[in-house]
Amino acid sequence: MRLIFFGPPGAGKGTQAKRLEEEMNIVQLSTGDMLRAAIREGTLLGKEAKGYMDAGKLVPDGIVVGLIRERMHGEDCENGFLLDGFPRTVVQAEALEKMLDSQKCSIDHVISIEVGDQEIVNRLSRRRSCPDCGAVYHLDNLPPKVEDVCDACQKQGLLHRDDDVPSAIQARLSAFHDQTEPLREFYQERGLLRSVSGSQGPDEVCSEIREVVSISG
Ligand code: AMP
Repeated sequence: MRLIFFGPPGAGKGTQAKRLEEEMNIVQLSTGDMLRAAIREGTLLGKEAKGYMDAGKLVPDGIVVGLIRERMHGEDCENGFLLDGFPRTVVQAEALEKMLDSQKCSIDHVISIEVGDQEIVNRLSRRRSCPDCGAVYHLDNLPPKVEDVCDACQKQGLLHRDDDVPSAIQARLSAFHDQTEPLREFYQERGLLRSVSGSQGPDEVCSEIREVVSISG
């Protein structure tokens, strides 16, 4: 199974991808996570990407397409993958299509997780995540059991991402509307787009996605 999770930043793509990755035995490929790892490791690519990311802008297509191309050759992708945060432009979607064509395979479903802008602003400004295992929290709706400690791996010190600040959140939403939303039409034309409501609890969103991809819950 090859899936794309589509939606604005903070829609819950990463949260749902992490849940389904194990359940479906397919690997989550998050370009945002790959770029943040490159920044942590201090690579040249990470240094180039950081300025764009902190400003809430999209990193140039060539960089992210290169990352995905390399990663998709991994053995762990043979069983399928779940793309989280890629593609984000029509150029990226076309590059992905070419890559898959050359491997004689294709995307099965593009799942659009729908959430309105106002809710996104609230979610992202109160979002915290674990620097070790990536578990995601919301200070009001899904706080960790012990303040500032990850429930899943007990790491102390949850992160407020550099791009989860008001100016970057607005820029990311604009990038989504201007550069990423045209993909709706791109995938609709190919008969691949399925919409689910992201304004429900994570369990309900997950059930809707399961239904869409027809796996048992
Ligand atoms: P995410 O974790 O998916 O919200 O991504 C965080 C940031 O990484 C985005 O705001 C972009 O700056 C960058 N990024 C991640 N994926 C892509 C992509 N497919 N194309 C361009 N930039 C990306």
